[in-house]
Order: sequence, then structure tokens, then C-alpha cells
Amino acid sequence: MFEVIIEGVEDCNCFKKRGKKFPQTFESSYGAKTKAQELIDSMNDTFCGVHHFSLKIEDNKFIILAKRVV
Ligand SMILES: [Zn+2]
Repeated sequence: MFEVIIEGVEDCNCFKKRGKKFPQTFESSYGAKTKAQELIDSMNDTFCGVHHFSLKIEDNKFIILAKRVV
């Protein structure tokens, strides 16, 4: 199993409003990575402008990291 998890969004209200549940699990590494990258791209495009999202890979975990940029 591969997991997509998200870190650093405790103070990100726009993320909470979106109502996404994590962790999400996937059968394949490819599926998890594709989903994580999709979420990152869409969040960077449409989100609050306060956070920047990037991908960190650890073993079978694909971690979406939110960092404050302002
Ligand atoms: Zn935010």
C-alpha cells in the first residue's frame, strides 16, 4: 500500500474548506504519486496564496508539504 498524506496545513483554512480526507491509500506507487502531484498542482494554482505545496517521498509515503510563503 502507498499513502498520500499532507503536512503543515493546521493553519490553512482554505485547505480545511476543501474537505479532503487524508491519508489516502493507493495500490501502486504510480497511482499515489500521480494523485499527490495532481493535488499539489491544483492547490498551488487555486489555493490561498499563503502556502506553497511540494512533494516529499519517504519509502511508501508521498507527503504533500505545505509551507507558508508569506
Ligand atoms: Zn492556506
